[in-house]
Amino acid sequence: MGKALVIGAGGVASVAVQKMAQNDDVFTEVMVASRTESKCQDIVARCQNTKTKLSTAQVDADDTAAVVALIKAFDPDIVVNLALPYQDLSIMDACVETKTHYLDTANYEHPDTAKFEYKWQWAYMDKFKEAGITGILGSGFDPGVTSVFAAYALKHEFDEINTIDILDCNGGDHGYPFATNFNPEINIREVSANGRYWENGEWIETEPMAIKREYNFDEVGKKDMYLLYHEELESLAKNIPGLRRIRFFMTFGESYLTHLKCLENVGMTSIEPINFQGQEIIPLQFLQAVLPDPSSLGERTVGKTNIGCIFRGKKDGKDKTYYLYNVCDHQEAYKEVGSQAVSYTTGVPAMIGAMLVLKGLWERPGVYTVDEFDPDPFMDGLNEWGLPWRQDFSPELVD
Ligand code: NDP
Repeated sequence: MGKALVIGAGGVASVAVQKMAQNDDVFTEVMVASRTESKCQDIVARCQNTKTKLSTAQVDADDTAAVVALIKAFDPDIVVNLALPYQDLSIMDACVETKTHYLDTANYEHPDTAKFEYKWQWAYMDKFKEAGITGILGSGFDPGVTSVFAAYALKHEFDEINTIDILDCNGGDHGYPFATNFNPEINIREVSANGRYWENGEWIETEPMAIKREYNFDEVGKKDMYLLYHEELESLAKNIPGLRRIRFFMTFGESYLTHLKCLENVGMTSIEPINFQGQEIIPLQFLQAVLPDPSSLGERTVGKTNIGCIFRGKKDGKDKTYYLYNVCDHQEAYKEVGSQAVSYTTGVPAMIGAMLVLKGLWERPGVYTVDEFDPDPFMDGLNEWGLPWRQDFSPELVD
């Protein structure tokens, strides 16, 4: 049916490409291109028993001209950007120039400012419309599945949604005192930023990790979770009518937080360049180099993730509460694709989003977050491709 160019060859790309190869009626040809081509070749080697024609290439995605040349040579229907958020705009520029659909899992962040927001990518709306191409922003788990959950809840369960709490629990244990489950630089930038949530039309900012709650997660148990800013808060606050409050909580263990505090206190999480023995280095990038590679955690991680949204609102004039979530087992994910659940829960929705574009079900010129499309085929895709969802009509609430 279609051709996809996947850019990036990390944990998420590995899962997405293997899932595309499983879905070979839709993904007839896939090229994996990244900075280090040997990693692309490793991913392709994992894809067995597939009709999908797979190939690899080397590309620096910061270089729009190089991406344009690659797109022209391979002629894909869609570019699936699974590199880092820093590459979003250069890849989007290449898609506009070549009139090729675009999809990513994380919104643009400038390497020099640890602040992600959609304004940079929403600014491409007219360019994408003029080129007649679809741009899908944030088709991972959160953002991604959590945003589709909101669209599904609004379509099927509520007349009006008033509050959303997004709960991201990783009950996995990799046995290291400190490691991050995805790209350490992106992860640490996210969790060391100020917390922020949206209430009654305003953003309320908190110190990092200032708001803590305990929650009893299905199949994981009781965990401490902390309020963070997360990018789907921005799109859902804008797109869900009648919303009064939206918050995001993520679980962290005590060891992770103690290490992070210590690293912060000594300056190791800083993104300000420093001079070290005559060479300019960024402390956070140096820290990344000494931490375990997230893709090496899969084999040793046990436990489950539980990520979902608690909605409160009105149906037929009555108050209603509804919880939609997914539980994913780290070891099951590892057995299937050789990656832990954090990469799995991101790579599967990236494949599903790309599939819906190729099938013409999510094709609309412009740039949109996933909550702006019909959620039903995506929800069916989650059940079919390894991330079945569960619902609870009387969940424990977060105060
Ligand atoms: P990794 O760090 O494992 O992989 C990133 C890949 O991008 C690497 O292969 C890297 O190449 C490549 N890359 C980096 N810069 C360039 C460049 N200039 N040109 C070409 N390739 C480049 O990250 P993950 O796989 O964990 O994450 C991928 C994306 O998914 C990130 O944007 C992350 O923020 C997002 N994400 C989204 C989630 C969600 O739920 N929405 C959850 C988790 C992640 P090299 O191998 O040479 O370093």
